This record gives sequence, C-alpha cells and structure tokens, in this order.
Amino acid sequence: MKIGFIGLGNMGAPMAANLVKAGHDVTGFDVAGATAEGATVAKNAAEAATGADVVITMLPNGAILREIADQIIPTMTEGAVFLDCSTVDVDSARAVAEQAQAAGLSALDAPVSGGVGGAAGGTLTFMVGGDDAGFAKAAPLFEVMGQKAVHCGPSGNGQAAKICNNMILGVTMIATCEAFALADKLGLAREAMFDVVSTSSGYSWSMNAYCPAPGVGPQSPADNGYLPGFAAELMLKDLGLSQQAADAADADTPMGAAALELYKRFVEDEDGRGKDFSAMLPRFEKRTQS
Ligand code: NAD
Repeated sequence: MKIGFIGLGNMGAPMAANLVKAGHDVTGFDVAGATAEGATVAKNAAEAATGADVVITMLPNGAILREIADQIIPTMTEGAVFLDCSTVDVDSARAVAEQAQAAGLSALDAPVSGGVGGAAGGTLTFMVGGDDAGFAKAAPLFEVMGQKAVHCGPSGNGQAAKICNNMILGVTMIATCEAFALADKLGLAREAMFDVVSTSSGYSWSMNAYCPAPGVGPQSPADNGYLPGFAAELMLKDLGLSQQAADAADADTPMGAAALELYKRFVEDEDGRGKDFSAMLPRFEKRTQS
C-alpha cells in the first residue's frame, strides 16, 4: 500500500520502519525533521498524505491532530483511510473522524498499548474505533505493526477503551505501591508480599507483570533504576484524558481523579518526570501520614 506517516517520534518512527520492512511504500513527515528508516521524506504533512491509500498519524495530542487533519483531509483521495494511532481526547477523535467522513474518507481512531518496545518489535495492541470498511482496509497494517487489533465500535471508542484501561492501570499501580510501602512498615518481606498478592485476590498486571519492587517478581523498570518503561508523565497525560472524558460524560470517577492528582504532584513537584510510573513505590517509601 501507499502510506503517508505523520509524526515520526519515539513510537511513529519504528512503526513506519516496520511498514517499510513489510514492503509498503511509506512517505513520512515530522515537523521536527525526524525520519524513519527506509521511508521517503515529505516536505510537509499534505505532501505525505497526497495519493496515499492510508494516512497514519502518531502525534502528541488532540490539538495537533486537529491541525494536521485540516491540512491533510483536503488533499486525501476519496475512499482512503485516515488512521490516527495517537492517544488523544475522545472529542478530538470524534471531530476529526466526522470531518474525514464528510470528505469521503474512512476514519479510524486506533490508539495503542505496548510502548516503544512494542512499536519496535511490531507487537502493539490497537484499540480501534470507526467503520467496518476502514477497519478491514487497515487490518493488514495492524498485523505488521502489532499483534492484536480490537474493533471497539464507532469513532472515538478506541480512545475510550484506551483511557479507561489506563485509568485502571494508574489506579492499580498506586494501590500496589502504597500497599508495598505499608507492608514494609509492618515488617513484611517484599518477596513474601509478592508471593501472596500475586496469587491472591489483590493480583493485577501492576503486581504480577510489572512489579514496582526491585528484585521481586518478573524483570521490570524497578530493576533498572525506574528508567521508563512507561514514563510517569505519559501516565499523567492519560489520566488527564480520562478525567476530561469523565467530566464531559458526567461520570463519577473518584479513584481516577485521585490518581490524576497523585501523578500530577509526582511529575510536577516530586521529581517524578522522566521516571517510570512505577516509581510511585520509592515515593511512598519516603512518606509518612503527615
Ligand atoms: P513523541 O513526542 O516522541 O512523537 C511525536 C512526534 O510528533 C514528534 O516527533 C513531533 O515532532 C511530531 N509532531 C508534533 N507536531 C507535529 C506536526 N504538526 N506535524 C508533524 N509532526 C509533528 O511521542 P511518542 O512517544 O511517539 O507518542 C506519540 C503518541 O503515542 C502520543 O499520543 C502518546 O500518548 C502515544 N503513546 C505513546 C507511548 C509511549 O510509550 N511512548 C505508548 C502508547 C501511546
């Protein structure tokens, strides 16, 4: 396929390179001059999108996605697919999809989980919102860039699935870290804590697959000085999106709100920026109730 790829950052560059390796004809653009291995470089976003069967965007936020949509939708060929893989707010995803459909395009919001490692290894999971025809057209690309694509319903539902998942992740990571810090103060060895919780009703992905305690459980960023992994500021971004969506939908999400507040303090005031989101454990270790 002829593919335009806009946003060649930490995630976009390896995703685009995998598409090239699979034999697709990829033209890329990034405002910062970043490139992807094997992809042709375009002068601007519109040039990357012109004549493409599918245009993929991998951008920082919804405002930039809307800007790019304004630039590329008029140049895209009728019937082509606008495939946004960024994590953005549900409203922006739905607005851009509407704009694309009005121009005769298929629109998919397909945020990913799996991080930079998943992008490089072609093992991402895609959570996809949009129409069946677009999903069918993009399916071979999901297969190259990922290991799984779940069609979650109409436009915006991919973003909805992503932010609900990450709200659970943020909340359970905090709960796991504060429980480890409490167990320390109660004199319970971390290995014993892991052995019990990972096989009891307190288990979760945060405990079992990504244990925040160094030297305990499987290898995780805790064993690497809390280098990300999944950076605390990216978790903060996703929790901001879930609270924004909760406000718009009038949903009561007190645990999500508390997690947002804690990650905000951690990133902005407590030196958490640039650390993995599981570095909440050393944060709690240092604290008392006062
Ligand atoms: P990044 O900042 O490394 O990459 C974004 C790229 O977009 C940058 O290279 C930037 O120059 C480019 N860009 C910004 N404005 C542009 C414009 N107007 N035109 C063209 N290019 C422009 O970020 P990333 O880590 O690659 O993340 C991309 C998206 O994926 C984000 O929405 C993020 O939330 C999501 N995501 C990231 C991860 C992760 O682990 N990094 C995991 C899942 C989802």
